[in-house]
Amino acid sequence: MNIKRRTTKQISVGGLTIGGGAPVRVQSMTNTKTSNPAATINQIKHLEDAGCELVRVSVPDEPSAKAVGRIKAAISIPLIVDVHFDWRMAMTAIEQGADCVRINPGNMLTEDIKTVAAAVAAQGIAMRVGVNAGSLSRDLLAEFGHPMPEALVESALRTVNIVTEAGVANIKISVKASSAGATIDAYRLLSNRIDYPLHIGVSEAGPLFAGTIKSAVGLGILLAEGIGDTMRVSLTADPVEEVRVAREILASLGLLRKPEIISCPTCARTDADLISLVTAVESALADGDYPPLKIAVMGCVVNGPGEAREADIGIAGGKGKGVLFKNGEVVRNIDARDYLTELLRELDIMTREYKE
Ligand code: SF4
Repeated sequence: MNIKRRTTKQISVGGLTIGGGAPVRVQSMTNTKTSNPAATINQIKHLEDAGCELVRVSVPDEPSAKAVGRIKAAISIPLIVDVHFDWRMAMTAIEQGADCVRINPGNMLTEDIKTVAAAVAAQGIAMRVGVNAGSLSRDLLAEFGHPMPEALVESALRTVNIVTEAGVANIKISVKASSAGATIDAYRLLSNRIDYPLHIGVSEAGPLFAGTIKSAVGLGILLAEGIGDTMRVSLTADPVEEVRVAREILASLGLLRKPEIISCPTCARTDADLISLVTAVESALADGDYPPLKIAVMGCVVNGPGEAREADIGIAGGKGKGVLFKNGEVVRNIDARDYLTELLRELDIMTREYKE
């Protein structure tokens, strides 16, 4: 699939480029108390290891705002502070070195947004205008009746005018809703109205399984249309899962290169415990630093040889033993009991070769 990405301005968040042809950046958000820097730093380290490229922390109070400097000093990725209601938290977080301030126009007074925007502009950092269907301003709710996509876009456009007048140049925008359909509609509308980079996400998508599917549908459709410069998958789960899901969505569309497992669903022809094998391979890939190899793990000779031959490395299972393929060629037969060890051994060899 050849995705034509929409042209957007390029901005910088803490030195990381967003928009303007940069790769779609994966974000997540901590769920530790920001006022506990040790716990927050620990979680961010796990997110970094999983491939998170920007991280957001909530700043609900003064101790959280004052912890931003310590957190920022200990991590390697740009730090976004999430501020609602109290503009003073943003000011403290900016003094502490935040790379980006996310404000929600639905719950901050216009005068306060102007004050925060002036501080963001003076510091030369970035700002996210983050509109959410769950917290749309009262006047827009009165005007539109419901938090419909048009209302979200109107809120975003009004606020972008306010912050650009205050001198903010590094702007990204989000218009999230908890329904995939409303999210898609809102971003489609917005992307036709403005060329600032868009942070896409289905808000409050739900628990791990259902939220993953809802996000994959909503964000997958937008990304396939070329919409989206940075993304977050919002799950009621360990935020590391958000990063894993986001990366998988991007990889599915060819927007990110990572190891890919091709595995069959198993059926009556399967002669080995393929589900355990694939789970073990997936776990090894998640824990290791592997190049973007295509790995086929197939149950039998129906589709096995074809898929294994097309992959960088693959096993086509058979009765008690299978055939190992590398780079399209048969390498040797291996005993079914040795599938995992042989596959991981060969993967390590290929990884070394890839990095040389
Ligand atoms: S590859 Fe073979 S074992 Fe796997 S689902 Fe297809 S027919 Fe069944």
